[in-house]
Amino acid sequence: MIIILCAPSGSGKSTMVRHLLDTYPGCYELSISATTRLPRGQEQHGKEYYFITKEEFEQHIVNNDFIEYEQVYDGLYYGTLKSEIDRIQSLGRTILFDIDVKGGINLKNIFGDNALSIFIAPPSIDALSARLHARGDTSEEMIQKRLAKAEIEMADAPHFDHIVVNDDLSVAKQSLEDIINSWKRNS
Ligand code: ADP
Ligand code: 5GP
Repeated sequence: MIIILCAPSGSGKSTMVRHLLDTYPGCYELSISATTRLPRGQEQHGKEYYFITKEEFEQHIVNNDFIEYEQVYDGLYYGTLKSEIDRIQSLGRTILFDIDVKGGINLKNIFGDNALSIFIAPPSIDALSARLHARGDTSEEMIQKRLAKAEIEMADAPHFDHIVVNDDLSVAKQSLEDIINSWKRNS
């Protein structure tokens, strides 16, 4: 089973993913993407991302190692390695994807009914801006890029199976769980 969570950066995707991983230990495994961006804060190679160089990333592209990849922000690559899907399938766990909106739509097209796609929406662009500033680990320039992209990404929300508005966090967590549990029961 495959669950695709997409949202504009800062909407609370990582918070939701952590909630699912902590609430259902042994059930879900997060697909770790490869990226050419530098680690932020306490991020570690092999935990949040596989942090690789642009040259390494481009070699993986040439080798056809990615199921999908994007240049999400100027010059920065993000992608899902096929080997990551094999790794999680061999554990027998539900795969959680935390990826950008375009990547999420691509994966839903690839996996069809085997995947549940959920868009996590911020209550507003202003709230998103406040959260990105409060998180305190992203430069002002990057925040402005993310906000500009968020407005475009919000327009793609209707392409997803479900939309969860992350306003009150506990309400959003509960509705995410309800959507997933109901999908699992019916598939
Ligand atoms: P993303 O993974 O989508 O970039 P995060 O999960 O890192 O987003 O959330 C961005 C920031 O907003 C974090 O500091 C997080 O603690 C905070 N946050 C998440 N959900 C809420 C919410 N419902 N209300 C207020 N702050 C939130
Ligand atoms: P961040 O730099 O905040 O960790 O991530 C920036 C954006 O890249 C987020 O929207 C995140 O979901 C997205 N992203 C992370 N991994 C992947 C991936 O493998 N593929 C795609 N298409 N986007 C990704």
